[in-house]
Amino acid sequence: MVLGVSMIAAILVFRSAVILPLLFASTASPAAPARSDTLVASDTCESSLNRFGTVRYDFYDTANKTSLGGGTNFHFEFTYTFTYRYVIQNEGNSASVAIHPKVTPSAHVWHDISLPLGLGDSTSWYRRLRRHELDHVAISSDERPSLLFRYLVTHLPTLHRSMEPGAELASLIRAAIADELNARRAAVVDLIQANYNEFDQRTTHGVLPLNDRGAYFDSLYSRPNLEAHRFKWLEEAQPLLDMPRYRNAIRIRCD
Ligand SMILES: [Zn+2]
Repeated sequence: MVLGVSMIAAILVFRSAVILPLLFASTASPAAPARSDTLVASDTCESSLNRFGTVRYDFYDTANKTSLGGGTNFHFEFTYTFTYRYVIQNEGNSASVAIHPKVTPSAHVWHDISLPLGLGDSTSWYRRLRRHELDHVAISSDERPSLLFRYLVTHLPTLHRSMEPGAELASLIRAAIADELNARRAAVVDLIQANYNEFDQRTTHGVLPLNDRGAYFDSLYSRPNLEAHRFKWLEEAQPLLDMPRYRNAIRIRCD
């Protein structure tokens, strides 16, 4: 048995295609506004969102645009350290290794919101557009996806890998652990993205109001939600889903 230590950082960027039909039309070009004119740092709700899913704004020039919309990118970043034990098993002419990893992850989600420059909160269209993007942020800054990821990677099963002759053992083990982590990360990210997509379908990209917002946001990342989106590690995650820590996870939205 050998104890190994490593650290790996991974950064993922995912984009939600978000188009809100142009309900506000103006032939007048906006005056050149300061980039900060629509920042809402004093907004209490948004400040709270920022603590759990940092939001950055990017305002684009509306000149020569035939349609205006908003967009939200979410970034799921994580770092981790791990240790492992392993046992080599020989069977005839072949050998395999059983790996017992212990992973300590740290995850953070942050967002880019794209909005038209210079419109401010002067129109109901713009206010609805911005609120729609903040609803996307609420979906991905929900603490439950990060809890899911952390739980799954801290409860990895024993990994079994065959060993080719001459294989470099440490590389093989690290690759095996990285593969397992990446697969779980991808599943959690896909789940967030599926909820983005379903939210856009349900609201026609923010045109239609969301009925019973509280029930909708509470339902995210529940067992039925994971089932609906065919979350691969549903059964492995079930003990977490039963925990009060998960059911009472932090979730903030701007109503
Ligand atoms: Zn949307």
